[in-house]
Amino acid sequence: MTPDLRGGGPIPVRDWDRAVGLISSADEIALACHISPDGDALGSMLALGLALRAAGKRVTASFGERRFRVPRLLGFLPGQELLTEPGDYPAVPELMITFDVPIVDRLGMLAENALKARELIVVDHHPSNTGFGTLNLVDPAAAATAVLAEELLRRLGLPLDRAIATCLYAGLVTDTGSFRHSSTTPGVHLMAARLLATGLNPEEIARELWDRSPFGYLRVLGVVLDRVTLEPEVGEGLVWTFVTRADRVAYGLPYDEVEGIIDVIRRTDEADMAVILKEDDDGAWQVSTRSKGAVDVSRVATALGGGGHTKAAGFTSHLPVEQTMASLRALL
Ligand code: AMP
Ligand code: MN
Ligand code: MN
Repeated sequence: MTPDLRGGGPIPVRDWDRAVGLISSADEIALACHISPDGDALGSMLALGLALRAAGKRVTASFGERRFRVPRLLGFLPGQELLTEPGDYPAVPELMITFDVPIVDRLGMLAENALKARELIVVDHHPSNTGFGTLNLVDPAAAATAVLAEELLRRLGLPLDRAIATCLYAGLVTDTGSFRHSSTTPGVHLMAARLLATGLNPEEIARELWDRSPFGYLRVLGVVLDRVTLEPEVGEGLVWTFVTRADRVAYGLPYDEVEGIIDVIRRTDEADMAVILKEDDDGAWQVSTRSKGAVDVSRVATALGGGGHTKAAGFTSHLPVEQTMASLRALL
């Protein structure tokens, strides 16, 4: 079998060509990524933003959160100066491009702007993508939206520099779990090579993304691990825990600092599926689910109003922890 050496496989060439045409002829372009942005969402958006600005376009970039704040661990990404509060976003963009957004709801406050945009290009890799754009560049086989963003830059004839490559690399390493997940193809490593060739610093990026946190993180981790539960009889084994707003407040820990705890929980040998419920600052529960392959967690998360991938998915719950877990167990 010929290895997949580049992203963009199933996207028809005429769609790429149309995207290139729309972007090339626009003077002003509005970019958006999903709320609670991760490295792939924000990295892909800022990469495009930096390249389009260098090409002389007027660029707006945002995500639709009322309490607009870039997660601390993504603060090192170049291009932050492109970001505007969602309140200052064009109400009816001529051309809007979304990154890593599978359903219009994940645009939060910017969903309305997207629905009103004259042209809406959706760049994404979620199998659950609903195709809500006027043009959809969606490839579920792509390891990250950053793979599609790089392909788009190449087709636009826009060169990579170190700053753009840093943003794309953040997306690539986030979504492949540092080249550990099954999505790590030869094409992924070839893309990494092109990005590294710009002189970016992989050590610094890894440290910013995963290897630092305030001291309070260790205290909250202690609390969360203390209440972790293993239910070997549920599905192919279920391990789960939760982190409340009060747990975080006690140690002054912002919400986005607890995103990585799922990676500790999911190592449990006795469970195929790992779950963490994280209470956000509005009191809603953001639920992260992971599987080693026996359970399709995207099916479970979709049934509970969310979405995601086979082995990594999520949903939002407004019910108490035990009730959410009961609905989840019922699906296994
Ligand atoms: P996370 O657990 O936040 O790292 O998310 C894992 C995957 O699930 C990502 O691909 C997200 O896009 C997806 N996901 C997480 N939360 C939600 C949600 N509330 N609605 C839809 N998809 C979600
Ligand atoms: Mn994402
Ligand atoms: Mn992604």
